[in-house]
Amino acid sequence: MTGVGELGTAAQALRSKRLTPSERAAIEALVRAVALLHTRVGYAGVDDAGAAVRLILREPEAGTGGPWATMGTINVGATNALAKRAPQRARADVLLTVDVALHELTHVIQFAKMPAAATPNGAIVEGMADAVAIFATGDDTLGEGMYKTGPDGRPMGSVRELGGAHRTSGAPLGVVINTYAQATAPGAEEHAAGGVVSATFIALRASVGRETAERLLWNVIRDAGAWSAGGTWSELARAMRRAAGTDAALLTAVDAALASTGLNAALR
Ligand SMILES: [Zn+2]
Repeated sequence: MTGVGELGTAAQALRSKRLTPSERAAIEALVRAVALLHTRVGYAGVDDAGAAVRLILREPEAGTGGPWATMGTINVGATNALAKRAPQRARADVLLTVDVALHELTHVIQFAKMPAAATPNGAIVEGMADAVAIFATGDDTLGEGMYKTGPDGRPMGSVRELGGAHRTSGAPLGVVINTYAQATAPGAEEHAAGGVVSATFIALRASVGRETAERLLWNVIRDAGAWSAGGTWSELARAMRRAAGTDAALLTAVDAALASTGLNAALR
């Protein structure tokens, strides 16, 4: 952290006079994300054994590419990278929102579950992280808080629109694709391809409700068998079926959700 140094716990960091208001807000967003997951799904540290997530401020790469996660750590920049691309629409002063914090925190948890040598499947880790954020917040639009509010009172953009509701007045940063065939086609961008994962969980939510779909999602995240190779489509589809346990109706709903996006092809 250039020129700031170790700030200690979130409570200690929030008392520091060396932080900008944006940095203070970023810490608060991550604290809210952690508290939300604790309440909703029993979050107990990135390793399920009490390990805290670290937040790095003023990280140069995040300043140009946006927030990113690595083992144990979420990185944010000194300004919002989106504001460099769309200065009329994005807010330079917002470094992290609760939904983006949930997405990045999921990556930290996923990395903690994977064997050290595993190569993460980008599309799967992105789609799972998006699903975590939309279930925890109850909002299918991601990252709209990083954009300004337009004359119509709606955010002027978002990072991704996953529910198709178009709650923003501007275009999302990234499009999503939601079929397994397209997601696994050569050259598919990993955040876009993650749309097949979030779409499968959104289909499940439509049949079993948000709470049950979210519980199943977290059963998969906590299932080490889903991450042994860094996340494969076959492991994901099998872990979703395994997560249904002995609940036959839920298994039927999982199978229908997998079929709705073509992800059932990964079972063969
Ligand atoms: Zn991500």
